[in-house]
Amino acid sequence: MSDAFAAQYDPAALESTLYAAWRDAGLFHANADAAATPFVVMMPPPNVTAALHVGHGLNNTVQDVLVRFERMRGRNALWLPGTDHAGIATQNVVERSLAKLGHTRFDLGREAFVEKVWEHVKATGGSILGQLAAIGASCDWERAYFTLDPDLSAAVREVFVRLYEKGLIYRGHYIINWCPRCLTALSNEEAEKEEVRGHIWHLRYPLADGSGHVTVATTRPETMLGDTAVAVHPKDKRYRRLIGKTLRLPLVERDVPIVADDAIDPAFGSGAVKVTPAHDPTDFEIGKRHGLMSIDVMTPEARMAETVPEEFRGLDRFEARKRVVQRFEALGLLEKVEEHVHAVGHCYRCHTIVEPRLSEQWFVRMAPLAKPALQAYRDGRLRFIPERRGEEYAQWMENIRDWCISRQLWWGHRIPVWYCDACGKTHVSRTDLVTCPCGAPLRQDEDVLDTWFSSWLVPFTSLGWPEPTKDLAAFYPGTLLVTAPEILFFWVARMVMAGCEFMGDIPFSTVYLHGTVRDTQHRKMSKSLGNGIDPLGVVQDFGADALRYTLVAGMSVGTDVILDPDNIGSTFAAGRNFANKLWNAGRFILTNVEGPTRRLAGGPSALRDDELTLADRWIIARCDATVREVTEAYERFRLNDAAGAVYRFLWSDLADWYIELIKPRLYGESPGGDVARAVALKTFDVALRLLHPIMPFVTEGLWQRIPGRTEDAWLAAASWPRPDARAVSPEAERRFGLVQELVSAVRAIRAEYEVQPGKAVRIAVQHPGPEAAAAFRQEEATIRRLAKIADIAWGESSEKVGGYAVLSDGTGVFVPLGDAIDVARECERLAAEIARLQQLVGSQEKKLANEQFVARAPAEVVAKEREKLATWREQVSTLGEKRGRLGC
Ligand SMILES: [Zn+2]
Ligand SMILES: [Zn+2]
Repeated sequence: MSDAFAAQYDPAALESTLYAAWRDAGLFHANADAAATPFVVMMPPPNVTAALHVGHGLNNTVQDVLVRFERMRGRNALWLPGTDHAGIATQNVVERSLAKLGHTRFDLGREAFVEKVWEHVKATGGSILGQLAAIGASCDWERAYFTLDPDLSAAVREVFVRLYEKGLIYRGHYIINWCPRCLTALSNEEAEKEEVRGHIWHLRYPLADGSGHVTVATTRPETMLGDTAVAVHPKDKRYRRLIGKTLRLPLVERDVPIVADDAIDPAFGSGAVKVTPAHDPTDFEIGKRHGLMSIDVMTPEARMAETVPEEFRGLDRFEARKRVVQRFEALGLLEKVEEHVHAVGHCYRCHTIVEPRLSEQWFVRMAPLAKPALQAYRDGRLRFIPERRGEEYAQWMENIRDWCISRQLWWGHRIPVWYCDACGKTHVSRTDLVTCPCGAPLRQDEDVLDTWFSSWLVPFTSLGWPEPTKDLAAFYPGTLLVTAPEILFFWVARMVMAGCEFMGDIPFSTVYLHGTVRDTQHRKMSKSLGNGIDPLGVVQDFGADALRYTLVAGMSVGTDVILDPDNIGSTFAAGRNFANKLWNAGRFILTNVEGPTRRLAGGPSALRDDELTLADRWIIARCDATVREVTEAYERFRLNDAAGAVYRFLWSDLADWYIELIKPRLYGESPGGDVARAVALKTFDVALRLLHPIMPFVTEGLWQRIPGRTEDAWLAAASWPRPDARAVSPEAERRFGLVQELVSAVRAIRAEYEVQPGKAVRIAVQHPGPEAAAAFRQEEATIRRLAKIADIAWGESSEKVGGYAVLSDGTGVFVPLGDAIDVARECERLAAEIARLQQLVGSQEKKLANEQFVARAPAEVVAKEREKLATWREQVSTLGEKRGRLGC
C-alpha cells in the first residue's frame, strides 16, 4: 500500500480491493494437510436465489468474527459456504412468474418446468455469495457447494437407500400437513403454529331411532361432511347406554356408529367427539382401531370434493364452513357457538392455513436416529449457547415424530423409488432404473424430497461423503455451528442425527444460537412489514465495518439485536465514527513514526524499564489487560464485550489520552521520542489485531502501513496477541488513573463555570495520598498541558471562591476562580437561573396540590410530574451551593 494516506477514511475505496487481495492470497482456504488443529464452521446455506437480508448479515458476521479470531490464533480455520436449492421457495418464485403469463407448471410439464427453474437459478442464483463477500465473510469459496450438485445429489440417494434398507424409511397412508396453495405435504416443523381467533361450534347429531341426540364440538364444522363415527370414553356414564347405537349424520344423512375409545377425554366439551379419519391425525388413529371408513371430503386445493352432498361441492373450505353452520342453524341443530383462540398450522413458505389430510407419503422413522443425538447432549459432548436451548433440543428429541419427507413438487431431489405396475414390486435404487426384472417398464415416484433432507447431510456431504476423502478425514467432525434459533429443529437437530447415523459422531460440539434482528417495536424485520434494513445499502453508505460493528456491539448472548430502520444514519453512526476515529488515530501515529528507529522492531520489550514514563507503563499495561479481556470475550462468544473493550482501549486510552500525552515527545519538545514512538506503534498494532475480527477492513488498511512489518504480510493472517506478564502493572494503572481523574476533574470545573478555553487556571491539590502525590509530581507537565493549568499549589488555599472536587483516593482539588471568570456576572447568571427554577417549582407545587388533578390523571403521569418537581428542587439547591462557593 504505497498510495497516499487519505485524510478521511473511505471504506468504498478500500473494501473491495482488500477483499480481492485476501482472496487471491488464499487466506480463506483451509488446507486438508495442514498440521494445525482444525476449526470448522458450516455456514447455514442460504436459499440459492435469496438476496442478503439483515438476518444473514448478523448470522454471517458472527461466524466471520469467530472464524477470523481462530484463524489468527493459529487454528486451521475452515468456514464452509454453500447454497440450498430450497424446494418450495424456489419453485414458488418460478410458478409465480409463470402465473403472470397465465400458465401453471402443469402446462409446461415436469421436464420443461424444471428446466425453467434451472434457468432462473443460473440467472439469479448464487449472487448471495457475492453479497456475503461484500460484508467481509472469509469463507473458503473453493469448497462452496450447492445442494443439487451431482455429488451431493448422489450422497442424498445413498442416504435414502441406506435408511430404506435399514427399515428407517417407509411409505405410508397417514394424516400429514397439506398446503392447499403449494399443493404439497409439509413436515410438522414446516407447519408453523400461530394463534388464530376462531369459534367452537356445538352441533347436534340425532340418534337414528329418533330417541334423542348427541352434541359434538368442533372448530372445523366443514369436516363433519366426512365424519364416520362419534366416539366417547368407555367409562363415561352419560354415554354408556348409547355405545353401539347409530346416529344419523345431518346434511349427509349417513348412519354413523357411536364407538368407545380410551383416547377420548370425557372432560373435554360434551365428552362426545366427532370422528373424521381423513382429516385429523387423532381421528385417523381412532378410525384404524375401530375399522372406520376414511372419507376425504376435499380436493388438493381444499375445495369440497365429489364425496360431499351436491350443495357443498366445489366450495372453498371456509365457504363450506359457513354453509354447514347455516344449515345446522336452519335445522335447529346448532346448540351454541363460542369464541375461541387456538393454534393453527400455517405453511412456512406461503402462510396458507394447512389442512390435515390423509395421503400416501414417505416417512423417516426418527426415534432410532434421535437416540444417539439425545445421548450426545446428555453426555455433554454437544453443548448449546445459550444453555436453555439445549433443553428445547432435548424435549424435541424425546417427543420426536416421524418425518414426512416426500413433497409434491418438481424442484428437488426426486425420490429414488421405482414402481412396477405389472408385478407390483417397488425398487429403491442408487442408480436410475428403467426396466423391472420382470421385464415391464418401471415408473419413478413423482415426488421430490424435502429440502431439509439434503441440508441435514451437509456437514459430511459437502466434504465428499460417501467417498473417504482427505477433506472428510481432516474436517469431520467440525467444531461450531452458528445459527438463528428458528432452524433448531429443521436443521440443527437433524444434522446431529445424520452425523451420528452416517459418520458415527456428532457434526459439531457447540451450537451457538444468536438472537434475531428486530426493530425498535421489537418486531422481526420483514419485507411485508416494510421494516427491513438492507445490509448492502448500509455497506455502501457506511462501510462493511460499520455494519459489522453495529451488529456485534448490539448483541449479547441470548438477546435480540434492536435496530431502527427509520434512523439508519444514527443506527450505524457509532460504527462509522469508530472507523473514522481509528483511521485518524492511525494516521497520526503512522505519519509520526516515519523513519523507523532502532527500537521499532522489538517493540516495548526492547525498551529498558528506566526509559519508560508512567504514561508508557500505563498504556502498555492497559493494552495487555485489553488483550486478556478481548480474548476471553471471543472465547465465550461475548462478541459485544470484545467490541466494547477494544473500543475503550482505542478510542479513550490510546487516541484520547496516550496520543495527546506523547505529542511533546514526538515533536522533540521533551525527551524520549523514540520510546514514545515504539510504545504507540506496538500498542496500536496489538489493538488492530484485537479489532480485526470485527472490523477487518479498516484494521487491515491501517496495518498494511505499519513500518517494519516482517512477520506476516496480512493482518488477516497475522498472529493473535499474547498476554505478557511483564506488561502487567496495577501500580501504573492506579497512578495514571489518578492523573486522569485530576485532569478530568479540572476540565469538568472549567466547563461548569464556563472558563474560556484559552484561559489558564490555578489549582490547589489538597492532602493527596502518597501515590497521588508521586504521580502528580511525575506527570506535572502533562497535567498542566492537558487541563490548561498555569500553577499547581500544594495544600489548603486561602482563597474562598472556586470549584472543588474529590478524587477516588480522597485527594481534594480546588480550582480558584476569582481571576479565571467574571464572578459578579456568574453570580447574576446563577441568581437569574435560580429565580426561573423557583417559579417552575412554585407552579408545579400548586399543580400537585390540586386534588382533582392527582385523582384524575393516570398514576404514571402524576409520578412523572412529581419527578419533575424533585429535579427542579435539586437544581435550585445545587445552584445555591455553587453561588456559595463563588461567594455571591
Ligand atoms: Zn404453502
Ligand atoms: Zn415388475
